[in-house]
Amino acid sequence: MTPMPELSIEADDALVVVDVQHDFLPGGALAVAEGERIFAPINALLPRFPRVYATRDWHPPDHSSFTQHGGPWPVHCVAGSHGAALDQRLCLSQTARIVEKGVDRKTDGYSGFAATDLAADLRAHGVRRIFVCGLATDYCVKATALDAKAEEFGVVVLADASAAVNLRPTDEDSALEELRRAGVRIANSTELLGQIAMLAAAGAHLEPNEAFDRAVEI
Ligand SMILES: [Zn+2]
Repeated sequence: MTPMPELSIEADDALVVVDVQHDFLPGGALAVAEGERIFAPINALLPRFPRVYATRDWHPPDHSSFTQHGGPWPVHCVAGSHGAALDQRLCLSQTARIVEKGVDRKTDGYSGFAATDLAADLRAHGVRRIFVCGLATDYCVKATALDAKAEEFGVVVLADASAAVNLRPTDEDSALEELRRAGVRIANSTELLGQIAMLAAAGAHLEPNEAFDRAVEI
């Protein structure tokens, strides 16, 4: 079997952090049990990427995904509420772009690409590949990665920087398998951070933001 090519962060890559909001973390309305495991890898990744997006589930109070309106979920991430706020343990810089999804009553909002300008913004900034992480692997991370693939971006899902709802214990594995079949690469953050650590040890200074600025100027 041919080994996978090594992963490295390029100037035309972006990190898409999905729904790291209070309601999806322990204590929230729709908590992902292992949600807190994502903070360490995501915070290590954030400063390495030339461009970062953070999606927010951002629903009206009568959203169609809520049980009292015929949907599968309890009320969560109502626009402007505490539950909808990004968790402050996520070390986002001021330059991260926030993408709101599920804004109208009918759009389920699983995907960061559904009824948003994410694809257009990525293209406008010359992004060719996205790395997707966050909450939850079996819903919004999966939907965002599949739509990115359909939009013909290169897509890598960072499994250890994501966590699953796992209504069935096998849901995370099924989601990752479905993504693989769709041509999405599944990786762990250590594959990227390990490479950076090795470069640092070899004396090479990797500063993606500077690399990106230079690429834009040229
Ligand atoms: Zn939602």
